Amino acid sequence: MKLKTIEKLCCPFDKQDLQLQILAKDTAENVLEGILCCTSCQRNYPIVYGVPVMAPDEYRQLALEQPLLDRWELEYGLSPVKLLP
Ligand SMILES: [Zn+2]
Repeated sequence: MKLKTIEKLCCPFDKQDLQLQILAKDTAENVLEGILCCTSCQRNYPIVYGVPVMAPDEYRQLALEQPLLDRWELEYGLSPVKLLP
């Protein structure tokens, strides 16, 4: 997803701005992998294959999201990320 598009997204929980941590980009500067963090409620939303995974708490699949973050910790030296506050 393009950086400009990502910058327009807000947190589905409280509609606050999100902080983007980019982990991988393609040659066209699209963000392939990264994490969107809400500085207000501390929720984290991963970007997977260029698609932000953003859903309200009751629809989140933490069992699917967590292994991804575990892999990024190894791959990118990412500090442990808590998906929900
Ligand atoms: Zn939030």
